[in-house]
Amino acid sequence: MYSHHSHSGDYVAHGVDPLEDIIAEVKRRKFHTWCLTEHMPRLDADLLYPEEITGAMRAEEDLKTLDKKFEAYMVHAKKIKSREDSSDADAGVKILIGFEIEGCDETHLEYANELLSRNSEVLQYMVGSVHHVQNIPIDFDQQSWDRALQASGNNVRQLLFDYFSVQKKMLEVTQPLVVGHFDLIRLYMRGDLRVDLESGQVLAEGGTFVRDIGSLMTQWDDVKELIVENLQYVVSYGGVVEINTAGLRKGLVDPFPHRDVVELAKVVAPTIKYVTSDDAHGISQVGVCYDKLLNYIENVILLKQIAYLEENGKGEVTVRDISMEEVKKSEFWTIK
Ligand SMILES: [Zn+2]
Ligand SMILES: [Zn+2]
Repeated sequence: MYSHHSHSGDYVAHGVDPLEDIIAEVKRRKFHTWCLTEHMPRLDADLLYPEEITGAMRAEEDLKTLDKKFEAYMVHAKKIKSREDSSDADAGVKILIGFEIEGCDETHLEYANELLSRNSEVLQYMVGSVHHVQNIPIDFDQQSWDRALQASGNNVRQLLFDYFSVQKKMLEVTQPLVVGHFDLIRLYMRGDLRVDLESGQVLAEGGTFVRDIGSLMTQWDDVKELIVENLQYVVSYGGVVEINTAGLRKGLVDPFPHRDVVELAKVVAPTIKYVTSDDAHGISQVGVCYDKLLNYIENVILLKQIAYLEENGKGEVTVRDISMEEVKKSEFWTIK
């Protein structure tokens, strides 16, 4: 099996286990390909998460810590990769080294491009992610998500529009090979929010509950149009969309992206390719919810094949297809 997106306790504040322990678990579970994709450093103290802040006047140092951790990550990742590349094929796992970007603004997007070109002997690709709308984190906690909603005029339609606009910019500037958790904005979407079905405005009473809207992503034409543009753009430059089980792990009904996005993609971007990711932050999240993922792919979104990343003879990362029939033959499914 494959994961194209992962973290560890060594290099991200909310990770739980050392990277080496995670790799040991990956090998025990017989992963075919495992991609290391720690977060790029953020450049702005306003973007530090509470868990990264060590003191009121220490913003500069805290930002430097992110920088140092990323440097250390690249050294460590390279070491792991050369070790696994030279180990015997049966025991080994194919390691690729990427990083997850912060698509929050132009400065971070340019920085992501710079990191990739400056460290091209280590970093092989980007996971293109958006974790902020108007610099407010949308996947950290409910309170932050609520603030982002307020910043979008307390309007769900506008919040979605703003999120996918940031994503559009991210895609255009960086053209990431893997697009991370496409519809992450729905992580803290409250089902009990009442909205005006036309405008998307949140209402104190009346209106429609968000949970009763069948397809949130296609409810509003302007939002849908942006999603269509983003999906088509990804296909145009040869990117792939990850199916990320963090959504399932966090209690959503589907992984990212949900079925409404995939159904839309089938119509507007039928050649789009999907890779799988667990976005693991610790040992217990290695391959997390992959049984549900298999069910989702086979029985919900009805894909006959998925894709994965593989190095060609020249060390370049290429996109390969594999049928679900082949995927199911993997020893991975027999090891718990
Ligand atoms: Zn992410
Ligand atoms: Zn991640």
